[in-house]
Amino acid sequence: MAIPQTKMELRPLGNTGLKVSAVGFGASPLGSVFGPVAEDDAVATVREAFRLGINFFDTSPYYGATLSEKMLGKALKALQVPRGDYIVATKCGRYEEGFDFSAERVRKSIDESLERLQLDYVDILHCHDIEFGSLDQIVSETIPALQKLKQEGKARFIGITGLPLDIFTYVLDRVPPGTVDVILSYCHYGVNDSALLDLLPYLKSKGVGVISASPLAMGLLTEQGPPEWHPASPELKSACKAAVAHCKSKGKKITKLALQYSLANKEISSVLVGMSSVSQVEENVAAVTELEGLGIDKETLSEVEAILEPVKNLTWPSGIHQK
Ligand code: NAD
Repeated sequence: MAIPQTKMELRPLGNTGLKVSAVGFGASPLGSVFGPVAEDDAVATVREAFRLGINFFDTSPYYGATLSEKMLGKALKALQVPRGDYIVATKCGRYEEGFDFSAERVRKSIDESLERLQLDYVDILHCHDIEFGSLDQIVSETIPALQKLKQEGKARFIGITGLPLDIFTYVLDRVPPGTVDVILSYCHYGVNDSALLDLLPYLKSKGVGVISASPLAMGLLTEQGPPEWHPASPELKSACKAAVAHCKSKGKKITKLALQYSLANKEISSVLVGMSSVSQVEENVAAVTELEGLGIDKETLSEVEAILEPVKNLTWPSGIHQK
């Protein structure tokens, strides 16, 4: 049965021709990485997201050791809508057991992902957290392997993801134009860290679509706080905690403010938020609608920015030293 869909702003994704919802659905929480999520809740959450206009879903075999892909697959199947109505991204190269960006592994990886997702193709296949592999291997072996998968129709577009921003320029400067269609950056376009901003003109000049993930800084900017594995320094964690407490004392939701901050930059095609309940989906979609109507709460934003000023753009190390 067709699900009546509310409209959400759709934004073009680089040169792909895809139009992705301004808020994208981050499915890592469906792998129970932020706490347990029951299958029924996962299915209901995805259904509500789709109903409220979210057409873009992001997962990886790494999230919850393949659980996220399996849950998302079941949930998308339960939607019973035409395949062309939603856009799915998954990743390769990062697994519970470690990293492997070899051509052989990524070829196997997409077949495993498609089986778990119960799909014939994914719209985007990213190399996941490339700073943990040799960037030269990504350029000379992994991306060419992904191009073959593109020709075979298993993935429509190719992306790269990771935390350090210089990985994107390293790779994009070394591949022919149009080889990498999109990049996924995380934790670099939010209230506490907006370092991605400086890279946007370069990415635009390369015709690469920009996806920005983790507007809530992987839980730092939520009332429940970050998961135990969160890599931020104690200094960053305590500044974010103070910002959360400040919003709470004013009766404001930091999640709304943080998400609206990320959404306000339209050069970012989609902001991926991890969601694990129907109420989170509803709150986050309401934040988009409110941003369009009323705009952001400038007073609270400047107070929060002042609290976070000492840790502005403070990040954490990620990956191996590249020779
Ligand atoms: P996030 O900043 O989106 O925060 C997610 C956390 O916030 C979860 O605990 C979620 O339950 C909670 N949350 C969401 N909405 C809320 C609300 N309204 N109120 C209270 N809590 C709320 O971090 P994330 O999930 O890590 O990032 C989003 C997605 O982006 C991921 O799920 C993943 O798909 C993608 N991602 C990719 C990479 C990568 O490729 N390297 C890295 C990080 C994230």
